[in-house]
Amino acid sequence: GRPSCECNTCYRGRDCSLLLPDCAADADSGDPLFLEPYWQQHAALSAVVVSGWHRMSYRTNGDNFISLQLETHLRLLHEAVGNAVTDGKFIVFGSGSTQLFNALIRSLSPDNDSSSSSLSNVVASAPYYPMYKAQTALLDGREFEWEGLTSDWANASSSPSPSTNFIEFVTSPNNPDGTLKRPVLPGSTVIHDHAYYWPHYSAIPAPSEEDIMVFTDSKLSGHASSRFGWAVIKDEGVYRKLNRYLKLNSMGVSRDTQLRVLKLVKVIIAKVKKQDDIFDFGYTTLSERWSKLNKILSSSTRFSLQKLPPQYCSYFNKIRDPSPAFGWVKCEREEDRDCAAVLLKAGIISRTGIIFEAGSRYTRLSLIKTEDDMDLLLQRFESLVSQEEPAV
Ligand code: PMP
Repeated sequence: GRPSCECNTCYRGRDCSLLLPDCAADADSGDPLFLEPYWQQHAALSAVVVSGWHRMSYRTNGDNFISLQLETHLRLLHEAVGNAVTDGKFIVFGSGSTQLFNALIRSLSPDNDSSSSSLSNVVASAPYYPMYKAQTALLDGREFEWEGLTSDWANASSSPSPSTNFIEFVTSPNNPDGTLKRPVLPGSTVIHDHAYYWPHYSAIPAPSEEDIMVFTDSKLSGHASSRFGWAVIKDEGVYRKLNRYLKLNSMGVSRDTQLRVLKLVKVIIAKVKKQDDIFDFGYTTLSERWSKLNKILSSSTRFSLQKLPPQYCSYFNKIRDPSPAFGWVKCEREEDRDCAAVLLKAGIISRTGIIFEAGSRYTRLSLIKTEDDMDLLLQRFESLVSQEEPAV
């Protein structure tokens, strides 16, 4: 067990088994702590020790402040998992994929001098990961502007002028609903956010071969703390601009982080398709959680969950059940307009659909936190559903 100072907020006692009454189940953030037990099982193998004198330089053995070994191992990882083709493509590192989003928008926007007024319109389809809009609005520059939903443009009676440059975020599988997504606007430049395109969360029907793909260690190994993401880039011009941005913005990613991630990726690769495979562990954990939540909600007429089909996965070489990172809940009753508030009243903290631009009838549940978080969420939901009047 964990030491008591590390109990989940709702639990106390030496082995964290005492549940505090009336403590709300917190299913808000996407903190990937479901992978903590995996790394506890491989504690020695995944440990990194760095002496005080080691790696003090700005420089690394690769160009642009990146560790060549880490780059090589990320390519090996994608090949072993079969989720992305990296041959003939460039790789850049960022402080989480978060840093790469703005780096990409800037690098994909036209170089504006004062004589030019062309602008990039940055868009996404609802429901979408709210960071794209918040960050784009914060870092708003002369070259780009957040322009809302793809549906507003796809259905516009007057089509955008041919010079309009659309940058479309496509999150596949999607946060919040776990569906595999494709771009909507014809001719847009697409940033494929593949944060969840790993076998823990999704079937891998085929390797992604897109021109701009973004991945993050936050959802691969679960080390959100390390702030490590990477982009796989086809175009050399875009690659150069990205490197310039990353140099001027932060002089590259922490070398300590690169060292730690290299260690984790080496362990992951060594166990691919063997006993103790992290993807097998992740998939088993999340598919069980999904099936438990579905079972509880199947007897409800008040709440529904997104429907996800079983799908063929090339990694496991079988048709597999869904194992999404999030439950996307809809409140079906007319009077339950604010679904997050309905759940909160029943002791469940969720993330309202409003910030995903999907409206308040929807709310998101994180299924990737600790086992304690999940157990409590299931308990709270079970008692909420059991209070429903039986259907007539
Ligand atoms: N993209 C999506 C769609 C996400 O849900 C998340 C994590 N919540 C990220 C990226 C992760 O960002 P980072 O790599 O900066 O931790």
